[in-house]
Amino acid sequence: MSKVIAPGATIGILGGGQLGRMLAIAAAQMGLKCHIYAPEAESPAFEVAARHTLAAYDDMAALQAFAASVDVITYEFENIPVEAVAALEHMRPVYPDRRALTVSQDRLLEKTFFNSIGIATAPFADVKNAGELARAVAQIGRPSILKTRRFGYDGKGQVVVREAADLAVIHRSIGGHPCILEGFVRFSREISVIAARGISGDFAAYDVAENQHAHHILSRTTVPAHIEPETALRALDIARATAEALAYVGVFAVEMFVVEPGDNGKAQLIVNEMAPRVHNSGHWTLDGAVTSQFEQHIRAICGWPLGNIRRHGRIDMQNLIGHEADDWHQILTENACLRLYGKAETKTGRKMGHVTRILPEDAA
Ligand code: AMP
Repeated sequence: MSKVIAPGATIGILGGGQLGRMLAIAAAQMGLKCHIYAPEAESPAFEVAARHTLAAYDDMAALQAFAASVDVITYEFENIPVEAVAALEHMRPVYPDRRALTVSQDRLLEKTFFNSIGIATAPFADVKNAGELARAVAQIGRPSILKTRRFGYDGKGQVVVREAADLAVIHRSIGGHPCILEGFVRFSREISVIAARGISGDFAAYDVAENQHAHHILSRTTVPAHIEPETALRALDIARATAEALAYVGVFAVEMFVVEPGDNGKAQLIVNEMAPRVHNSGHWTLDGAVTSQFEQHIRAICGWPLGNIRRHGRIDMQNLIGHEADDWHQILTENACLRLYGKAETKTGRKMGHVTRILPEDAA
């Protein structure tokens, strides 16, 4: 069903947050229109798109009308019900496809998938109920991390299982949902690879990014990551193998932990998770690369050639979380690229914008 989408066509985007907003702006710059579908009235993407639909993800009539009005469909967050995507697929191409979405929605399927293609993750065990937690702890050890299989993001839906912890209390604290227990990884750095695969199988990956989190939310991304070139190549190989195994179409992120060298002298890479979409640790590409991740995603799903991923310099991207965005005026006086998402209300922990600083390549 795949065909090349021509300028003038309309892209349907499920989800109306800042990622959808930046995708819609990138699409407009290439002569495409966007139709955003989201259930929240104050969606930042609505105001920059040609059309929008305000409806729930299980409103089949609204989904069908949306599909009928667009040429190709994509999404900007991974918790879209798979049933919605299944219904849309009958009418229009949906990229990334249902398999990528299914795998990345569920931590158990995700880790099983990575291991099945020879990519290391933290050791993990399936925890269907409180009774299974004791067995899982005996297998994985402590400290470990109990995570809900689904709907976890920015550290939500996870709790550390420490030496003295009461397992029944811990399982209740996470809502009693199906979980996995993960071994605690003593990493030195967190990195991510943002990459794209096109419909014809072409592949392009940006340089490896290094990420710092505060309160479980990404706070800063620097590129390139402070890792050995050989480790960086392995990280890129992991992203490529992931894309190939899923016959993936679009931009995606693979987040990894770097564990310092053991006896063989090589740093180890442990995959934490993947995101089947543009990703916060790729926001620097808007100003710091020849082709942004947003344009790259549009190119990929339209069947267009992928763009050049070259960096303009050493990158320092800082998220503006909550009231950090109140400093917008000061940031404008600096030699920096400010992006604000137009969110109606500033809230603690809410991503309001980001600022990218492009430094000379040899800067410390
Ligand atoms: P996640 O929700 O899986 O992206 O996890 C959020 C953050 O928790 C990660 O960015 C890490 O800083 C930390 N984390 C997650 N899993 C582990 C793990 N298995 N070992 C150590 N830290 C972890």
